[in-house]
Amino acid sequence: MNFDVVTLFPEMIESPFAGSIIGKAVSKELIHITAHNLRNWAEGRHLVTDDTPYGGGAGMVMKPEPICRAIEHLKQQRPGAKVIMMTPQGKTFNQHAAETLSAEAGLIFICGRYEGFDERIRSYVDAEYSIGDFVLTGGELPAMVMIDAIARLLPGVLGSAGSAEADSFSDGLLEHPHYTRPAEFMGKQVPEVLLSGNHARIAAWRRSQQLQRTLQRRPDLLDKVHLTDEDLAELKRLRQIL
Ligand code: SAM
Repeated sequence: MNFDVVTLFPEMIESPFAGSIIGKAVSKELIHITAHNLRNWAEGRHLVTDDTPYGGGAGMVMKPEPICRAIEHLKQQRPGAKVIMMTPQGKTFNQHAAETLSAEAGLIFICGRYEGFDERIRSYVDAEYSIGDFVLTGGELPAMVMIDAIARLLPGVLGSAGSAEADSFSDGLLEHPHYTRPAEFMGKQVPEVLLSGNHARIAAWRRSQQLQRTLQRRPDLLDKVHLTDEDLAELKRLRQIL
């Protein structure tokens, strides 16, 4: 899958994807991440990409011409790719969005700076995404967050390092706790069930822990998830004892 990032700071995009799981996926050509300098599509001696806001006020606004030229150029290079604008005013990105976007042919991320985009750019993009209700100085970190979350869902990317299926949010709940050796650490024991070798008991314990964690930390998620009759009975029991 191709990830293209249009940015004024292409050097920001390289090192976070150079190592570890995403770095390996890049080397194996499972994914391609390309940063494009927006100034490649700017004109004039100074390659200007921003200007003062009409109506006055502080800050600079990103001009429409370079960004729209970049979008047109990259859409020709990547047929079928979706154009994503990074903006705190967009839909909040989450695991469900990562799964949906991982099925796309390719993604072209447009990173803003300063006060953001000239409003007319919005009609050239397919979707607008935010990574949360806070404001960063630029769209590069949000684009990288989205690329990481989407790339790890693509076939072969996680490899033997892990599976995304059991991760938090994949089935709508938080994930169960994990333990590794030693069996006792500073007087704290690994739960006996995990040492039992009984796969059915382990699965039941993990499901109960998922429900408990979600109930205690993110009860809002329980309203949106499909729960079985066993889950509901376990939740009722947990509510009585917690
Ligand atoms: N004035 C804009 C507003 O209030 O909506 C914020 C502009 S912000 C300082 C500059 C750029 O950073 C935005 O155009 C966007 O690309 C990016 N950005 C900042 N916060 C973001 C967030 N939470 N999610 C996605 N992109 C964000």
